[in-house]
Amino acid sequence: MPSRRPPDPFPGAAIAQQVRQRGIHDPRLLEILARLSRRQFLPPDERRHALDDRAIPIGHEQTISQPYMVAVMTQGLALSGTERVLEIGTGSGYQTAVLSHLASEVFTIERLAELSLRARSILDGLGRTNIRYLIGDGTLGWPAEAPFDRILVTAGAPGFPSTLFEQLIEGGLLVAPVGDEFSQELTIIRKQSGRPEIHSIMGCRFVKLIGAEGWADQGRGGPLPPSLPV
Ligand code: SAH
Repeated sequence: MPSRRPPDPFPGAAIAQQVRQRGIHDPRLLEILARLSRRQFLPPDERRHALDDRAIPIGHEQTISQPYMVAVMTQGLALSGTERVLEIGTGSGYQTAVLSHLASEVFTIERLAELSLRARSILDGLGRTNIRYLIGDGTLGWPAEAPFDRILVTAGAPGFPSTLFEQLIEGGLLVAPVGDEFSQELTIIRKQSGRPEIHSIMGCRFVKLIGAEGWADQGRGGPLPPSLPV
């Protein structure tokens, strides 16, 4: 019988170590970062960069987020395992995978059909069954499934995401980069007595959130598809 090396149970160990060195201490989060292969979520010609702590192109002028940013945003959501989470910007599906291990259900919206379908096939292949996918404009949220315990926006919003805030439960948390197209503040918004309590965590730079309550579509990435559950 040909001998085969068993799969590495910790393909993301280097990523977990990098983010730990930068101050991320949540043990559940570090464990899942160590167990996930970021490589799998990258196009073949970018896979050699999988362990770099930076955003990497995934096609359609979009990027997989920097692992440290994934860790900071996830930590900001303060997940205990019981939450229903809405994610805007499925992208590669890597952040979606992290959320699906740390929350009870993930609802993820991506405006570019090809990215959504690619992420779904990877996540299905990993046996993730607690994720629902929607192709469409995430700035409008997912009214049929609202309210959510947590909302994560993984693209830069030009202003306060008010429709998403409306779809948050009382006491819920929304994490989003908010700012201009060149730099944003990673912002945590808590719904307290119906009002937003806003904290800035750090400066960051994300691709644009494009949609009705985001930046205008300048013809890149094709027309917005209608919202379709997939
Ligand atoms: N979390 C992803 C980040 C991808 S980059 C990852 O780590 O791979 C941000 C993604 O947001 C892109 O895929 C982009 O197409 C998507 N996006 C931008 N505006 C959107 C909108 N209004 N609704 C849904 N997705 C959007």
